[in-house]
Amino acid sequence: MSENKSNNFIHNIIDEDNASGLYGGKVYTRFPPEPNGYLHIGHAKSICLNFTTAQKYGGKTNLRYDDTNPVKEDVEYVDSIEEDVRWLGFQWEKRLWASDYFDTMYEAAVELIRKGLAYVDDLSPEQMREYRGTLKEPGKESPNRNQSPEEALALFERMRAGEFADGERTLRARIDMASPNINMRDPIIYRIAHTEHHNTGDKWCIYPMYDFAHPIEDAIEGITHSICTLEFEDHRPLYDWVLQNVGFWPNPPKQIEFARLNLTNTVMSKRLLKGLVDDGMVEGWDDPRMPTIAGLRRRGYTPESIRNFCEEIGVAKGNSTIDVAMLEHCVRDDLQDKVQARNVVEDPIKVIITNYPEDKSEMVEMENNRNVPEMGNREIPFSREIYIDGADFMEVPVKKYFRLFPGNEVRVKGAYFIKCEEVIKNEDGTIKELHCTYDPATRSGSGFEGRKVKGTIHFVDAKTAVKIRVRNYDYLYKENEEGEEIFNENSVEEKICYGEPSLAEAKPGERFQFFRHGYYIADEKLTTDEEKVFNLIVGLKSSFKPKK
Ligand code: ATP
Ligand code: MG
Repeated sequence: MSENKSNNFIHNIIDEDNASGLYGGKVYTRFPPEPNGYLHIGHAKSICLNFTTAQKYGGKTNLRYDDTNPVKEDVEYVDSIEEDVRWLGFQWEKRLWASDYFDTMYEAAVELIRKGLAYVDDLSPEQMREYRGTLKEPGKESPNRNQSPEEALALFERMRAGEFADGERTLRARIDMASPNINMRDPIIYRIAHTEHHNTGDKWCIYPMYDFAHPIEDAIEGITHSICTLEFEDHRPLYDWVLQNVGFWPNPPKQIEFARLNLTNTVMSKRLLKGLVDDGMVEGWDDPRMPTIAGLRRRGYTPESIRNFCEEIGVAKGNSTIDVAMLEHCVRDDLQDKVQARNVVEDPIKVIITNYPEDKSEMVEMENNRNVPEMGNREIPFSREIYIDGADFMEVPVKKYFRLFPGNEVRVKGAYFIKCEEVIKNEDGTIKELHCTYDPATRSGSGFEGRKVKGTIHFVDAKTAVKIRVRNYDYLYKENEEGEEIFNENSVEEKICYGEPSLAEAKPGERFQFFRHGYYIADEKLTTDEEKVFNLIVGLKSSFKPKK
């Protein structure tokens, strides 16, 4: 993996271009989202790649909205895209709209027609499919293919003037109906759509196709290296063909493809994610379970952790699926030396320490971060009544259970050894409280060495505990036995927990390690002065082993 960090195959291409002087040492990239949804972790990979590649060579990166499809602009999406790119830590050189180039694209199409390299066709979509041929068989030439440039120009002008209905005519590049690459079999480069465009209004009723528009957008902006995902590899000959044959740009950009990010337990298509939002399956685009950048941010991920993840996975030429545990590893790794620990108990069980004075309360010391001694200690109250975690008691212990059970003694972290003497039940048989005794000689920090215990548990003081709302998350999608990703109906579990007193002061967006549980963030939207709501960022342990 260290190889990826210093130089990846894209850097190698750029190094060669710099050596040959192809772009005069210039590196200019772009990130081109379609503003039809929120960005997800896959986009983060593309953003990091485009921006860090340019940075490495002292170059620049544009943010360009790919809005050649006449759909309504959604300001919410545009705003979210910009917020997310900035949050990841990047600043674009220019913010541009592909639709601003419609005039140049039109001129480029006219240029192709003049050169006899484009014609207006009237095949129906069904005929078009039939004429296209297959991977095994060459396509069939359209009867319109030998139109004169004059005829084609006149027809294209009529297309533009709105004389035809949607789908009645198309402008096609005249390339090669027998090409083994189906993308080169006279692809459509302009189509008719009588649809209002958010930017150009009703100026146009013809719109350029992606494969024609994208190289032109890149060339106009002086992009040198146009980085896209592998699905476009077979489109590269068309990308090059357009720029060469339009001929407006003497030193055209080059397209470079990399493998898109796929993650286990994660669906990553905007269309699918929008469906979840529209159907109310999640709280919104920024639901902490969503793989959107907004969701990850609310979940508690840091920009550093996402950038590190993108760096770690590197860029490859072959598709693969990354274990989502690696993303989780990156945030755990980033937080472990940064955030303070707090005591929180889930599924609380009350413990009465029967031999501890009733009116007494003392402060005991807790490390803020056991990895970072410089982060110091804090004091939390301890008294006769405490709460312990539901998972830290078993009335009938299983094998190798070293935590609290009747007759067993454990260490209460930061305080004393306690021993369970009696289990007090409610009428319905559930546990009401535990009666324990403590040994004053075992106070933490006293240097007690009289005997050892195997289990250590944590606590909060019952009188001063604050109630907090904790949301523990599971994956939104989980693999079934057939290996398909299935929507998980139980991806969130909300609990009321007890926390140490200082959690009453938690600010929205503040992160903690809940001791022995995981990393949590005070939810930005739901945390108020009165109520603290915490999202699980990531648990403490992982099966994922980073490569050395
Ligand atoms: P989706 O299918 O999820 O809607 P998209 O590719 O249609 O994604 P765009 O807004 O068109 O979304 O993408 C903007 C840029 O992000 C493109 O350059 C695209 O290649 C890149 N991108 C999208 N998804 C991924 C991914 N999973 N991994 C890496 N790059 C991605
Ligand atoms: Mg898209």
